[in-house]
Formats: sequence, structure tokens, C-alpha cells
Amino acid sequence: MANKSKFQTIRGTRDLLPPDTALWNRVEQTAHEVFGTFGFGEIRPPIFEATDLFARAVGDETDIVSKEMFILAEQHDDRTVLELSHLRDTLRFMAVSSDHKPSIDFFVEKVGEFSDQYEAARKKGIVYADERAGIKLEYVKDSIGHLESLLKEDRFEGWRDRFDQTVRLCIQYLDLIILEQSNALRPEATASVCRAYIEHNMQQLPQPVKLYYMGAMFRRERPQKGRHRQFYQIGAEILGGPDAPAIDAELIEMLMTFFDKCGLQGAELSINSIGHAADNCRRGYVAKLREELLKVKDKLGADSQRRIETNPLRVLDSKLEHEQAIIATLPRIADHLCDDCKTHYAAVKRDLDLRGVKYRENWRLVRGLDYYMRTTFEITAQGLGSQNAVCGGGRYDGLVELLGGPPTKGIGFAIGEDRLILSLQEGGQALAAQGRDVFIAWMGQNAYATAIRAAKTLRDAGFRVELPATELKFGKALERASKLGSRFALILGDNEIQGGEWTLKNLANAEQQKLTEQALLEYLLKL
Ligand code: ATP
Ligand code: MG
Repeated sequence: MANKSKFQTIRGTRDLLPPDTALWNRVEQTAHEVFGTFGFGEIRPPIFEATDLFARAVGDETDIVSKEMFILAEQHDDRTVLELSHLRDTLRFMAVSSDHKPSIDFFVEKVGEFSDQYEAARKKGIVYADERAGIKLEYVKDSIGHLESLLKEDRFEGWRDRFDQTVRLCIQYLDLIILEQSNALRPEATASVCRAYIEHNMQQLPQPVKLYYMGAMFRRERPQKGRHRQFYQIGAEILGGPDAPAIDAELIEMLMTFFDKCGLQGAELSINSIGHAADNCRRGYVAKLREELLKVKDKLGADSQRRIETNPLRVLDSKLEHEQAIIATLPRIADHLCDDCKTHYAAVKRDLDLRGVKYRENWRLVRGLDYYMRTTFEITAQGLGSQNAVCGGGRYDGLVELLGGPPTKGIGFAIGEDRLILSLQEGGQALAAQGRDVFIAWMGQNAYATAIRAAKTLRDAGFRVELPATELKFGKALERASKLGSRFALILGDNEIQGGEWTLKNLANAEQQKLTEQALLEYLLKL
């Protein structure tokens, strides 16, 4: 049998539908309100940006960047990029049509033109910021040098082959140079917020700058409960300002207030401090950790064994049952923090106490990237199975600078809205389907004009009104009204139009009354 519904949502994506969307809206409205009361303003960055931005901010070596990013097809829409790519095509064409090659001078000239234009475009940031491009250009120049010296030599046997081969090599190296700025769908939004802070010179505003966002994020991971390829985050960032622990504490207070206002049950906040990247602090600890891990290497799984070299902190993330007892014996970062970080952490905890925010300390809560520092936190909630983290956050003082801005302090969080909604629904917070306040049962063309006017008046007053598009028989109209969950049916027939009094039927108790237009509105408004 033919498949009737030909198109379906793509794996890892889904439609959010009523009545669920009402809960999504309520959650988002709560975020607008709560964050607003803490002085945050909303930012709406684009959903795709330079791939580079995410690679740099999230980290080349993370799963997010190395395998989960949706990179968009490259586009030649910049004039300089177009010209460069045209120039390269010309060179490629000259190289293959080796019959009438002698114009090698022309070839050399064009290669020179390409490399000059490319360098200029790179300085202006028009082309992809390829770090190895310089080396590739050197290879190209070497090949050119080689060609020129070949031209000066006497043509020995196989000269022609050598010549052709060098031309091909030159083209190959040219082809390795990436021209297009590739774009990617955002896997998270912190990078975009920091990019915007720099781009719009927000360091000139009163500091710190407090921003929040909400919207879709994209990661190509294995779809499962609480894990989608298009998912939604609500997040906030505080950029700039002083080194005060109160900033960390207030951000966390705001977050917990938000969860509370959403009615989230069983939310648990875990916090930790991961110090800062210095020998007398986190680096010293990581060295010690690696040393201890090497001693127990044989007892660890393959992933953890690899991480001893690549990123020992991430071993602490392990969920493997048999590794837990081993991890419990490892050195803890709290014992290796420098004095400043220790003082900062103690002050954050004290400040959270002052604000009545309950937390648990979890020494295994870490982040793998260098610019993350000091406070890290996570919130788990109920009803989510193994994907039970609804929010992750932390301090990242080096990030704005890493993206080319001035040294700027930063801290933020990202809430997984899909998981938050799921947990609310599991906790019985689902909203019922929205019914109608008034269903207008109109009969006859005379009544239709009045029905339109009545619908407008009632809607202006904020009532949910259903005005059927076609005339329905009385019985059918009442049946439809109750199926839609209407509270009242407003009956408009010839009698009502002539008499100037409308009939209002309460569908819960079948009571009926006649009211003038004005009296009807007053009656409904009083309910
Ligand atoms: P996890 O460990 O669950 O993969 P993460 O460390 O990748 O989370 P973050 O990048 O810190 O998550 O994002 C913050 C929050 O976004 C997470 O706590 C989670 O609630 C949510 N989240 C992350 N990835 C997904 C996804 N693929 N689908 C739904 N929600 C997600
Ligand atoms: Mg993840």
C-alpha cells in the first residue's frame, strides 16, 4: 500500500503540538519574567554562525565539535571569495590543458596574484581563518620556484613529466586552501553571546552585561529520551564586571527561582569549583590526577584509559559501574585549589546560604576546557531516566578573549528545555487542552453578520471564541461546542436578531438566559 504520509519529521527532530505547546509557552514566559526581575535582557543571535566560532569556543576536541555539528553546505556569495575561486579554476584549467602550456609565465603570475589576494582577504577575515593556510601557500611557492628552475635547465629526459607533476602539485596545494567561511547550525549559544558582546562593543555598557536567550540548538547525536538533534535551550550569561562571588551566587539564585516558579519538583543543585588553569591550581591537580590514574590504569575501561592522556578530568565523568569505586579514591580538586580560588569558592557557598539556595557539593563535576574556571554547577530533575541533567553552567573567564575580545569575566548556564518540560509533565504539570469560552451557534445569513460582530467584541475582551465558518444545525452546533470544550454557546437565530436579546447557554448545566449584547458582555466579564 502506498505510504499516505510521505513526509515525516527527520530523525532526532519532532513537532511540538498543542496542548504541550501551552506548557512550553508558560515555561518561556516564566523565564522572561523571572530573568527580567534580575535585570537580564534578551538576546536573539542567529541560529547559524561561522563554524570556526563554535570550534574555537566549544573546543575542537569535544564531541560537540568533532562529531555532532551540523555544518551547512558552503556557499560562494562573497565577491572576494568568488574571485579567488575563479582564479583557482583558471589555474586548474591551465594545468590540465598542458598542450599549449608554454605560457608558464602567465601561470606563475596568476599564482602570485592568487596568493596576494588570498593573504589580503585573510587579513580582512573574509576567508576562512585556516591556521595552516600559510604552510600550504609556502608549498605553492616552493612548487613555483621549482617550475622556474626547471625552465632554466636543459631539457633532460623526463623533463616534461617532472614539469607536469610540479604543476599538478602546485594545484593540489592550492586546492587545500579553504576559501569559504563554512557555517554551522549552533550547537549551543554561549559562543554567539560572547561574539555579540565583542561585535557590539558591549564592554562600553555598564558592566556586567546580563543577557539571556532561548531557542533551538542542533547536535547530531543519537536520539533517545531527553536527547534530540534539534532541542531547545534557555540560557543566561553575565559578561564583564568584577570578580565577585556574588555574581555567581545571584545567577544560581535566579536559576533556582525560575525552576521553582515553573513548579519543577525534585530539582537538585550540585556545585563545584574547578580552580583556574595555573600550575599552583588546576594544572597541578590534573598532573597529580594523571599520576594516580596511571597507577590504576589497568582497572579502567578503554575510554578512561585514553582520557588519562587526552583529558584526565573527564575520567571523573565516567558512569561505568566498575570504575566508580576506583574514582572514589582519586585525589580531589578542592584539596589543590590555589588560595584565591579557595576563597572564591567558600564565598560563593556562603552567599548561596545567605540567599537560601540549597546545594550539594560534587567534586566530580568538571569541565574539560581550559577557559572554564572556578564555579561549575548542574541541576538534575526527576522523571528523566539517565538523561537527568536539566541544566549545566559555569564560569568561563577566558572565553571572550579567546574569541578576540578584551579580557572579560563570564559565567552562564544553559537549561535543556525539552528535559525541563518532560520533567514537569512527569510531575503532573501537564496543561489540559484549551477549550473555548464561547461557541457561537449562528443560524441564517441575518444572524451571521451579528455573529461576526459578537465574535469580535468577545475576542477584544479576551475571550476564546469559536465562530463556525459554515452554518450548523442547532443540534450539530451544540455537539461541536461541547467537543471543543466550550463553556458557553451563544445562540444567534432570527428570534435573537429581531428581539435584540441573545441566548446564552451554559453548557455545564444547560441553563439558558436571554441577554442584550451589553448585558451579555458584562455577565461574562464578571465570571
Ligand atoms: P549531556 O551530558 O546530557 O549530553 P551536555 O553536557 O552535552 O549534556 P550542555 O552542553 O551543558 O549539555 O547543555 C545544557 C543542557 O542542555 C543539558 O543539561 C541538557 O539538559 C540539554 N541538552 C544537551 N544536549 C541535548 C540534546 N541532544 N537533547 C536535549 N537536551 C539536550
Ligand atoms: Mg552532550
